Amino acid sequence: NTKCKILDGKLLSSHFVTQAQNLRSGRKIPCLAVILAGDNPASQVYVNNKIKIFKEAGFESQSFFISKEESTEKKLFQTIDMLNKDDNVDGILVQLPLPNGLNTENILNRILPQKDVDGFLAHNLGTLATGELNSAIACTPFGVMALLYAYGIDPSGKNTVVIGRSNIVGKPMSLLLLSADATVTIAHSKTQNLIQICQNADILVAAAGQPEMVTKDFIKKDAIVIDVGIHRKENRKLCGDTHQNVKEIASALTPVPGGVGPMTIAMLMLNTALAAWNK
Ligand code: NDP
Repeated sequence: NTKCKILDGKLLSSHFVTQAQNLRSGRKIPCLAVILAGDNPASQVYVNNKIKIFKEAGFESQSFFISKEESTEKKLFQTIDMLNKDDNVDGILVQLPLPNGLNTENILNRILPQKDVDGFLAHNLGTLATGELNSAIACTPFGVMALLYAYGIDPSGKNTVVIGRSNIVGKPMSLLLLSADATVTIAHSKTQNLIQICQNADILVAAAGQPEMVTKDFIKKDAIVIDVGIHRKENRKLCGDTHQNVKEIASALTPVPGGVGPMTIAMLMLNTALAAWNK
């Protein structure tokens, strides 16, 4: 399908960054604190990237690197408590995954809800589940919604399938699509007849964390495909959860890199700015 449109998250995210800068004038400079526990090399890249983009936009950021040996629940609680109390810090982000042995829910739920710019807290995910959109929304699904609307794609009444049910991507993605009046099917590793289910999707969101799993056989003609996955192949190139051959059938696709990834960071900036200015 030569008409398959590429949904350019990189370009759109740069508009969001510019807008955040324009909105800032005269207000407090938003400040994000990032906690990185352990020595996961991919996490280090993600954290550095976030800090770099915040800096470029004139936003403040602070980073707290805690070695794997030091990464106890007590140490993380101490760090979060200190940042919760610090009035200059508007948003707190704990980079996941945490080192083995730490309970992610426990650690995340120590963050004050109003400083949870990732939208991962039970409180904020629960608010989203009630259909309220007035607390921090998880950045990746939020970014997907921004991308859809920016390209004039309204999910209302559409058959949508989300592959993945994690608390940070699949679940909030499904809730946002539901709030936008889509008909939502959530698929996961125990789903039977996944291909047939996906073939019914006007909008398909692939967030399974499986490289190039979604091939053209999954795609309904002219469907819109959102690829959340990000993986490094053996040849060092990045790929997503979808195979490039979906372009033969789909009417629109997000690229990897340059699709959902940059939108995620843009929404993190937006959530941090809102946390700073809604005080
Ligand atoms: P998780 O591993 O937490 O969740 C994966 C989900 O996919 C699970 O619900 C799992 O099912 C389901 N799943 C796994 N394999 C299959 C399969 N073969 N068929 C159907 N469902 C399957 O991942 P995340 O949600 O954290 O992330 C998903 C992907 O998105 C990853 O590639 C990650 O790197 C990427 N990501 C990208 C971001 C970005 O900014 N672009 C941000 C965050 C994540 P079950 O629940 O049954 O185990």
